[in-house]
Amino acid sequence: MRLPAAISSLFPPGRTWRRTCLLGLLILLPTAASGSLAPERGQLERIVAAHYDQDFVKKGRDFHRAVRTSTLIQIAVIAVAVLWLALGPLGDWGAWALDATGGRAWLARALILFLVAVGLSFLRLPFSVFRFAMARDVGLRHDTWASFLLDWGKAAGIGWILVVGVGVLVLGLFASLPRTWWAAAWGTVAVLTVGYVMLAPLVVDPLFNRFHRLDDPALEARLLELSREGGVPAQEILVADASRRTTAVNAYFTGFGHTRRIVLYDTLVQGFPPDEIAMILAHEVGHWRRHHIEKGLALGLAAVLVGLWLAHGILGRAATSGFHGLEGRGDPALVVPAYALYILLSIVSVVPSNWVSRRMEAQADLTSLQLTRDPDTFIRTEVRLAKENLSEVLPPAWVEFTLYTHPCNARRIRMAEEFR
Ligand SMILES: [Zn+2]
Repeated sequence: MRLPAAISSLFPPGRTWRRTCLLGLLILLPTAASGSLAPERGQLERIVAAHYDQDFVKKGRDFHRAVRTSTLIQIAVIAVAVLWLALGPLGDWGAWALDATGGRAWLARALILFLVAVGLSFLRLPFSVFRFAMARDVGLRHDTWASFLLDWGKAAGIGWILVVGVGVLVLGLFASLPRTWWAAAWGTVAVLTVGYVMLAPLVVDPLFNRFHRLDDPALEARLLELSREGGVPAQEILVADASRRTTAVNAYFTGFGHTRRIVLYDTLVQGFPPDEIAMILAHEVGHWRRHHIEKGLALGLAAVLVGLWLAHGILGRAATSGFHGLEGRGDPALVVPAYALYILLSIVSVVPSNWVSRRMEAQADLTSLQLTRDPDTFIRTEVRLAKENLSEVLPPAWVEFTLYTHPCNARRIRMAEEFR
């Protein structure tokens, strides 16, 4: 395979064998992984046949195939767009932005980043609109288009603030500390990430949902007792008013330090029997007990370090070689290839980060089984969850391997059957 010149230029010349090995690995790894999953396919298919009728399986498959296709096209469009931007007349943009901001480099960086981030958000919008329409069609969403657009605006706005804020800080360090910028940038990103994870439950989540304390004293006492037994005493269980948007059911565990909390969707509290709510809580206790937020943070920050190391090489080379008219490390237009690199690395990291996530979810499932010793309720809960959420209970192996943050439903049921 011949790489486009733009991608080839990222690799130093004379190292063709490395490029070949890397490409070979990228192609072989998913193939080998899907191949190794093949023998268990029949077993998982039998589980699906035992718990679901064919109409439901087909409806879930068709819905998720459409959603997935739109997501994959969106990823491809965004990747092409950022590559196209990063290979544009960077020197001209830097000069224009400096001119527009009275020569203040940090403001010029903020201006370019803001324009790029807004442009990418609007490129993503039609895909989000399509997925929202699909979810409305199958009855998973029932909120209005106005509320969808308001949510989109809020999420996009938070994204723009983060991109501009972090980008200006990191590229400012890149310009002023040629040797050690990456270490300073890593420290900055680490502090901001920990701060964000701590503050999101207090500052960001309330922008999208209202939360109240679980108002069923008997159920609350039972759930708090369960979390105490699991070794992670919680102060309170919060309920989110998810039902104003969706019929989907969920529970999650968020925050860090004093802002740690367990949140249940009101759709779950209203529609599920207490045994099954307790099972879902036991899964969340599993995450808590095994320190998954802390481990996830640590792995994420390790990945950021690898990204900064790559950026050190690639952006350093681009800045000093006058790539597409760039005028040195201080050129504000460097934010464009930097942001492009960030987005491309984020896309590539989906597969390993989902692999880690699936392992953590499987561990939380195992903890919930160990705590409750009730695999029958576990299976009933999984089946009800899949039906409420119109899940694709057994996706193609490559889809689960690359895109799933949780083991697929059939695999989770199999774990409970093996636990018996
Ligand atoms: Zn989980």
